Formats: sequence, C-alpha cells, structure tokens
Amino acid sequence: MENIKLDTSVQYLKGVGPKMFELLNKLGIYTVRDLIEYYPRTYDDRTKILNIKDFIKDQNALFIGKLIKPVSVIYANRKKILSTVIVDENGDTALLKWYNQVYIKDKLKEGNIYLFYGKVTATSTTRACVESCNIYNTADVDKIQGLYPIYSLTAGITQNYLFKLISGLIDKNIMLNEIFSTEFRKKYELAEINYAVRNIHFPKNYDMVKLSRDRIIFQELFLFQLALLNMKDHNLVTQKTNEYSNLDDSEFLKIIPFELTNAQKKVVAQIKNDLSSNIVMNRLVQGDVGSGKTMVAAITMYLAVKNGYQAALMAPTTILANQHYLELSNYFKKLNINVEIITSTNTKRQKEKIIERLKNNEIDILIGTHSIIEDNVEFNNLGLVVTDEQHRFGVKQRMKLSSKGNVVDTLVMTATPIPRSLAIVLYGDLDISIIDELPPGRKPVETYVVNDNYNMRVNNFLKKQMNEGRQVYIVCPLVEENEDLDLNSVEKLYEEYKKEFSDYSVGILHGKMKNKQKDEIMNEFKENKINMLISTTVIEVGISVSNATVMVIENADRFGLAALHQLRGRVGRGSEASYCILKSNNKSAISRQRLDIMRKSNDGFLIAKKDLELRGPGDFFGIRQSGMPEFKLANLLTDTKILEKTQLAVKEVVSEDKKLILPQNQMIKKELLFKYGDQLNNIVG
Ligand code: ADP
Ligand code: MG
Repeated sequence: MENIKLDTSVQYLKGVGPKMFELLNKLGIYTVRDLIEYYPRTYDDRTKILNIKDFIKDQNALFIGKLIKPVSVIYANRKKILSTVIVDENGDTALLKWYNQVYIKDKLKEGNIYLFYGKVTATSTTRACVESCNIYNTADVDKIQGLYPIYSLTAGITQNYLFKLISGLIDKNIMLNEIFSTEFRKKYELAEINYAVRNIHFPKNYDMVKLSRDRIIFQELFLFQLALLNMKDHNLVTQKTNEYSNLDDSEFLKIIPFELTNAQKKVVAQIKNDLSSNIVMNRLVQGDVGSGKTMVAAITMYLAVKNGYQAALMAPTTILANQHYLELSNYFKKLNINVEIITSTNTKRQKEKIIERLKNNEIDILIGTHSIIEDNVEFNNLGLVVTDEQHRFGVKQRMKLSSKGNVVDTLVMTATPIPRSLAIVLYGDLDISIIDELPPGRKPVETYVVNDNYNMRVNNFLKKQMNEGRQVYIVCPLVEENEDLDLNSVEKLYEEYKKEFSDYSVGILHGKMKNKQKDEIMNEFKENKINMLISTTVIEVGISVSNATVMVIENADRFGLAALHQLRGRVGRGSEASYCILKSNNKSAISRQRLDIMRKSNDGFLIAKKDLELRGPGDFFGIRQSGMPEFKLANLLTDTKILEKTQLAVKEVVSEDKKLILPQNQMIKKELLFKYGDQLNNIVG
C-alpha cells in the first residue's frame, strides 16, 4: 500500500489479512502507530560472536565456523536429519543439525566459512551441538550482530511476524513525528525520535536501547505532566489573597473530647504555617486509617471560618459525607459555626435553598459529595477546600472544586501513601504531611487467613461475637469491576448468610441501592438494629461504627492490599478486641504472600509499599479512579530521574508558552491533543 500514515489501519499492510488483523487487535494493535509503539518486552542478545568452548547449553549462540564435512542426510523417525561439523578459530568443533530443511545441503559447502545462529543443545564437554541454525554470510556480520527484539505475543502471532511487520515500516522510514526542537533535545539530552524508534526495536547494543528508551519515556512523562498541568488550569502565580490574622484554635480544641496526638499537632502546625504564609496552601495529608485526619481537617476549617472564609469538605460517598456532617456539626454547633450538607439525596428545592444560603454567606462550612462541584453551587467567599480520601477522586473533580474560590487553599487527605515522586506528578508542587501515629489505646485488628474448610468455625465465632452484642461486617468479593455481577454476588451471599444466621438480623448494603436506602441501612447498623451487614466495598471508605468488631472478607485475594487495609480499618474503632478474617481458597504463592502481609502487619504504609512491589502502581491506584494513564514504557515508580527532568521541562515550556502557541511547540500540542485530547478542558486548543 502506498502512502502509509500513522493512523492507517494495519489491515492495509502487506501480510495482514483479516485473521492476522484480528490477532493484532488482540495485542492492542489497530493502527500503524500502535504497531510502531509496540515496543519489545526484552531482547535476544546476539551481540557477541562466541567461541565453541564458551557455548552454554540451552542458550542461543552466534558463531563463525568453517565446514569440515559436507552436509549429510539421514532418515530417522520419519524425519530427514541433516548434519555437518564445523571448526572455529581455536580448532574446537561442533556438530550442527537441522530437521527436514533439505535445501541446507546445497547451501553449505565444505571448506567455506559461515556465520551461524542457533540453539546450543550440547556443549563441548561431550560434543558441542547446535540445532536448526540460521545461516548467514560472514560478510553480513555487522548487519546480523545486535540485539533482537522479543515482543509479547498472542497465540497465532510469532516473533518473526512482528519483526517483519515493524522492520518493514521502519525500513520505509515510517516512524513517529519529532515533537521536540533541536535545542530542546540538546538541552534535555534527548535522542531524536526516529533514532529512538529504530533503536528500541532493532538496537545494536544496550547503550542504544537506553538512549532510545529514555527518549520515549521522557516523551510519555512529559506529555502526561503537561496534560495534568493543563487539566489543573495550573496557575503559576500562587501568590495568595487570603489573609489569616488569627490562628488561635484553642477554643475549638477545648470542645473536642480528646487531646490531639503529637502527629496531629505537628501537621496542624504545618498547616498554620501555610495559612499565614503568602503562598497558597496545597497540602496532602497522609495518615493511616484511623489516624485522625478528620480532626486535622476540622481544625483547618475552623481557622478558615474564624478568619472570615467559607470552607468546603468533599467526601467520596454519601455515607461518609453524612458521617462527617454528624460528627463535625456536633462540634461546630457549640461555636456557632453553621455547617450544612449537600448530597444527591437532597431534593431540588432543598438544594436551591442551600445554594441560596451559601451565596448569602449563611453557611460557613459545606460538607458534601460530588454535589458540591455541580455548576450551580456558588460560594460567597470560599477560602478553603478539603478533599477527603482523595484517591477516590479524579484530578478534574478536585480542580473543579478549587476553581469555585478565588485563590483557595487546598488540603487533600488520604490513607493511601503515595511516593513523593508520584505525588509531585499527580498534584504538582504540593507539600506532604504525614500523620504517623494512631490515637492512644487502639488495639491492632487480629487478622486470620482461612480457606473454606474453616467455614463452620468462622460461623460459630461470628455467632459468639454477636451473642455478646458485637456486630459483624461481611464483605462481598469483587467481581471484575462489573457492577451487575457484584450485585448478583452480594445478593447471593446475603441469602446464604441469612439462612445460616436466621436467628440474627442480617442487612445488605451495595452501591446500586438508592442513597436514601443506604443511609437507612447504615443508620440501623449504627443503632445496632442490624447484627450482621453483608456489603460490597461501599463500606470501604471511612465509615465508623465502634461496636462492629469482626470483618469477614470473602475471596480476599481479589482485593488490593491497600483496599483490604482500608476495609479492615472499619473494625477496631472501639475498645473491644477486633478481628479480620480473610477468606481465600487461592493457593498461588503470590496470593498467599500478599495475604500474609495483611496477617502480619497493621501498618498501612508498609502494606502499601509491599503491595506496590507485588502488583505495580496501576493496579494499586485503580487506573480509572485516579486518572493514571497506562504508559507504553514509563513507570512512575522507577523512572524518577526522568520524571525530575520532565518536571523541569514542562515548567519551562509552560512558563514561556502556556497555551502552546509558539511555532516550536506546535508538534508538542498536536501530540498532547492526540494522547489526552478528550481529557483536556480548555487551555490548549
Ligand atoms: P481517619 O484518619 O481514618 O480519617 P478519623 O479522622 O475518622 O480517622 O478518626 C478515627 C477516630 O479517631 C474518630 O472516631 C476520631 O474521633 C478519633 N480521634 C481522632 N483524633 C483522636 C485523638 N487525638 N485521640 C483520640 N481519638 C481521636
Ligand atoms: Mg477519614
């Protein structure tokens, strides 16, 4: 086909029929660009020409030898076996064999020297033997020597097939477009894009691989950061307008029923520092489940109100928003601070009323779910935005809330520890506070890992606990992120448990229920009218019922460890001993290893770190939730050096040409729109 472009479908390439097209699709390859960006998983090293004495059994070898016998053919087991013997420079000999490839007989001549590549099946201690070698002219040695790509395959597609398709394109110089100017590349020490593409597929050595990979990773991270910055409508002027003249929180501290932990005090001090500085606050508070993040948020909101600003607290679920509202309004009432809640359960009229009062500055603190960021919600004088359990929100949602104030201070709270390098990428230049201490008197949740053989014992234990007045959570297994299936499985589980526990009051809670229904069930559970609650992960975030002492998690191996830890945080909130029972019939080593971490540790940071090691960041954050892209090559956890470089580069480009209007940035803009166009709001374009 003539005129192949990057967006040309691969079905128009030579060698791609309907069947192969379908198989390529399976690998995520639809267009020529996809094919070019289908980078090798690893390489087969054919850089060294080996001596026969250095052959290693079962490994491939590239070697030069002179034929000292003509090729002979024998028939055995209905196969034609061709063989010959070669000698190398050192005088060592090796036996070469082929099966059924009779043409080899005419190809190789006794006395001639050839270059061979094949798999060593025996080494020289007995008699070196190499099977099914490729045969090359020694004159071509430069062309043949190098690293050969190994691609991830699917049944029906071979390495050779992909090699031919991709090298066909590259030989025709069909590669990616260069998006960086020569000066830019020089400054950031980047290889030219076509060099990188060619040499990531067909490098001569590992230095070339590194240069090429670095270039491609740089581009991926650069565009990602640029897109994020764009989504944030990033204001490089962070000079703030809010003034905090009074940072005395003693009045508030007097009404709460406990003393702050040292860690909470430390973080509050950091926040006060932010508030009184002339730079806008942009702070992430990380703290394990139960470390008391809400109180830190409450104090910050108190200070905002005291200094004449409104504050907003956004929570990921109605249940959690309600819970915050109940706890906080209780405190703030005593100080004559007006707290209101807005969620999707409000009627239109109720909402209108809240919005009216908000505009008139009759509400000081607004707590809510996504409803807070609806377009018609207007504040009078918003000064502080707090986002709880930030990992549940996308970047866009958070930004939208911030944009409701002039230059607002923001505080994001999370129980999910994020490595610093990643945090910078996701949130830009933000400061991180860590609450590394739990309030006193907390007992660790005793955790057990069991299989189905223990069902009876587990059930008896649950009955015993409930007979003593305690309450129990049963968490339903995740079913492949499919809500309908989840629903199915939670209802099935509910029926089973109701049968087994017919003497107890058993409730059910899942995401498909109406918010009002959910609240009713949660309230009944809080009031101990329900002994046992069968639930999906809607209870994962932040719910607090101190009389619940046992959590059973069905098919625990299907959850991420961070999620298990969050779930487990729902128990152990009172003075009674509490238990978490992880059910799993999965016998795989990795699954056992993961659940074992849960059994041994109650430290969310440690658990998260191990989980990252075992599963990688994509899984961990939930790509959909946090808007993390899947990169072709880049890894946010390990490519930190490049990340630092792209951070600088993005800043430079944006500070000079925020809207990407300059001619040298046109290709960058085009590629940015191609990769992230549907996610960008405004600036570019
Ligand atoms: P998380 O960090 O998981 O959001 P919460 O803010 O929900 O934790 O706090 C968990 C529980 O600990 C709440 O019931 C809260 O009232 C209580 N708490 C918070 N700080 C303290 C403290 N300094 N001393 C005792 N209890 C505290
Ligand atoms: Mg919380």
